[in-house]
Amino acid sequence: MKISCAGMTRIGFLLSVSVCVVFVLFIPWIKLGSLKPHPLLACNITCSNRYIKSRLEVSRLSARGHNQSAALRGWKNYNPQGLGLKANASLQIEDVFIAIKTTRKYHRSRLDLLLQTWISKAKEQTFIFTDWEDQELRQKAGNQMVNTNCSAVHTRQALCCKMSVEYDKFVLSSKKWFCHLDDDNYLNLRAMLNLLSAFPHNADVYVGRPSLDHPVETLDRVKGDGSASLKFWFATGGAGFCISRGLALKMSPWASMGNFISTGEKIRLPDDCTIGYIIEGMLEVKMQHSNLFHSHLENLQKLPQSSLLQQVTLSYGGPENRRNVVRVAGSFSLDQDPTRFKSIHCLLYPDTSWCPNKKPSP
Ligand code: UDP
Ligand code: MN
Repeated sequence: MKISCAGMTRIGFLLSVSVCVVFVLFIPWIKLGSLKPHPLLACNITCSNRYIKSRLEVSRLSARGHNQSAALRGWKNYNPQGLGLKANASLQIEDVFIAIKTTRKYHRSRLDLLLQTWISKAKEQTFIFTDWEDQELRQKAGNQMVNTNCSAVHTRQALCCKMSVEYDKFVLSSKKWFCHLDDDNYLNLRAMLNLLSAFPHNADVYVGRPSLDHPVETLDRVKGDGSASLKFWFATGGAGFCISRGLALKMSPWASMGNFISTGEKIRLPDDCTIGYIIEGMLEVKMQHSNLFHSHLENLQKLPQSSLLQQVTLSYGGPENRRNVVRVAGSFSLDQDPTRFKSIHCLLYPDTSWCPNKKPSP
């Protein structure tokens, strides 16, 4: 068979075109084979949803001035300077509104100890929210005592009523921070300022100790119709917690002018849970978990002595657990100072007139 020169050229051309086509078709496969699968492609629906959700979370935080790594970093490594945000190095005690929740039966047995110890160092900043017009307390605390007119019972409604008055009074003040405490808490003012000054006061901050090791789950009866559930962390009120002014103002639709009581009613949870619900559930701001706050729900004897003076709050066990107190070597015996608050106070402020180890005046 004779093949002409023109025929040879045509066959050669067709062959080289075919080789090129085959090569072009195979390139993506060669390339893909060397790549790991994209996480989204490798995931099932649930995983993809979680991935997308975390991306949304990151972009939401970025839009608020946080960067992505900060959004993913825990509070322990919080570094405001690294974010281009300024920490509040000059934070003063005058910048903080301190609210103590109490009730008529504890005015003598609990509040007197606080007035004698840490409140004496922050008289102007501390407000006592109670349920009875006690003339003796009024004389000691003056306008710092607030009669909420809430009922003197330990019910969800009565507790939310007091928190509602605390919130409104804080909003009316010009303070940068709101810190809430129970009347069986010792507040270390210096440690509190150290902690809060690590945050820019105008960032959204909610810091405290979670009372559980998992978030609470409840039906969303505020934003939704109650058919879907909502998970959120909350800071246990018995250990105290703090909220920045910026965040507190954002809580207003659910917290101001009595709205706090109706929010608590809708979800049927106590005051501290309602705070967590508004902040984490409604505003989608994450609580900063801190182990510097302490309630008597934990074993306080386990707190190392060397770190006691760095803790922001302390507490003591009630009548059912009198031995649950911090171990502190002080000048007071357990009989003289059963809560250990006086011993702690004298270590923090040795110059206090009633401290046994008071330095002699020159
Ligand atoms: N409290 C209150 N009304 C009451 C009982 C308690 O406002 O009828 C306050 C009390 O003063 C304290 C807080 O609620 O600040 C927690 O009370 P307690 O320490 O007795 O209880 P627990 O810590 O076990 O919840
Ligand atoms: Mn308590």
